[in-house]
Amino acid sequence: MRISQGHLNLLELCPRKFQQTYIEQLGSANSPEQQERLAAGSRFHALMQQWEMNLPIEPFLQEDPQLRQWFHAFTAAAPKILQIENPRFRESEHLRTLEFNGHLLTVVYDLLILTELEAQILDWKTYPKPARKDLSQNWQSRLYPFVLAETSDYQPEQISMSYWFFQAKGETELPQSLKLAYSTKQHEETRQSLTRLISQLDEWLDRYETKNQPFPQIPHTEECDKCSFAVRCQRSTEAGTSEAVFSLAEVEEIPL
Ligand code: SF4
Repeated sequence: MRISQGHLNLLELCPRKFQQTYIEQLGSANSPEQQERLAAGSRFHALMQQWEMNLPIEPFLQEDPQLRQWFHAFTAAAPKILQIENPRFRESEHLRTLEFNGHLLTVVYDLLILTELEAQILDWKTYPKPARKDLSQNWQSRLYPFVLAETSDYQPEQISMSYWFFQAKGETELPQSLKLAYSTKQHEETRQSLTRLISQLDEWLDRYETKNQPFPQIPHTEECDKCSFAVRCQRSTEAGTSEAVFSLAEVEEIPL
């Protein structure tokens, strides 16, 4: 099974929601508004890839005021974002996979910049900057550097992950950034967390396939009240909106 950071976030949030979303493909756990925000985020990522490849982007900017706003925010901050000179390697939408305990861990870096001494993973976000603690706990922040350290010669201490948030709060506000360093200690902690979570996934998958036993539900909390599977899970008589899942479990990526 290909496993992305989105899979891991959802698996940790609620195994039953993972089952219904990824295995049974019963539809998105996101509300229509969230799906629209995700689609807009994906359009921005595609635009950034076009730009990085020196392909024309003007037609897209003319058609879409939101894209125009985010891209102008990017160009205003570009000297700071792209300050590394003469990198050894630079690629947008860089895909890497790592075989891990029988599954394929898959990452897509919005931009990867490699020099002799360091490796920088850059990621574009089209929502406001969250708290550092929340972002560092998100599986994207753990999985992305982990896969790079495992598939390159860079030591964890040479790797960093920088998020750029282009959703400005006011006309004059510049994009915000947040840089997360990486370390050997974090690398080993991530390895342990991955081993635990994937071994649980294997167990739940096995029971699901051989005994028709569903994945575990979480206790009834506000997460269920906001979940679009609430009716199916007999947690409500009407579906919720999954707002709580939105901010960090949602990450715009070019589909694999
Ligand atoms: S309703 Fe609750 S238990 Fe069911 S999938 Fe949603 S979050 Fe999980």
